[in-house]
Amino acid sequence: MWIVSVSAIAGQQWYNNLMREKAKIVYRFKDNLYINLTNRCPNACSFCIKSKFSMVFEGYNLNLEGKEPSAEEVLAEIRRQSQEGPVGQIVFCGYGEPTMRLAVLLEVASVLKEDMALGKYPKTPIRLNTLGLGNLVYGRDITGDLAKVLDSVSISINSPKREQWLEVVRPQPQYRERGYESVLEFIRLLALKMQDVTVTIVDRLGIDVEETEKLARSLGAKFRVREFIA
Ligand code: SF4
Repeated sequence: MWIVSVSAIAGQQWYNNLMREKAKIVYRFKDNLYINLTNRCPNACSFCIKSKFSMVFEGYNLNLEGKEPSAEEVLAEIRRQSQEGPVGQIVFCGYGEPTMRLAVLLEVASVLKEDMALGKYPKTPIRLNTLGLGNLVYGRDITGDLAKVLDSVSISINSPKREQWLEVVRPQPQYRERGYESVLEFIRLLALKMQDVTVTIVDRLGIDVEETEKLARSLGAKFRVREFIA
């Protein structure tokens, strides 16, 4: 019991110290650089680890506390961290939906692409992880803008059925009525413009894997099952 208490106190101290550090806007995980543009999200997925891990991931504080980074800050941090070792992919991900900051996302990706073309930055694939509501959020088709600057997009759909999607990803009220159809359309339009578009689901949620794969293929996308992080 005493040992448990000591380790609980040490854990709390570690967490408190981590939270005093500045939030990471770019973090390294498994050779990739992940970009944390925002903590805002139109969904509240039942499996989201944001609150479960108290805004920490792999020892990084990802709680921006509303201080969202500029494109310049993100680019400077990518360049700095790239000096520390090879980078497999640059991924817009983070604890939030990256397309909520579409203008910054597009600026960062297009500057990187220009630098790669000029040999100022090593050629590195750029990926977006998204929930696919971008067209509905902005009221226009954003897939053309994304396809110009990204190499791949991974869309977390999490159900082949509208009703189950509503239960699993729990979108904000303004996205409930047209959200699911909008995500499907987003995937279809993106897959017309890009080779590497992947629809994903999280395992262990009781989602019909075969049905979702069939749906993904019918929209022109690839398919992948992601690991449930407990
Ligand atoms: S889309 Fe991502 S960040 Fe948003 S609630 Fe779902 S898992 Fe969390």
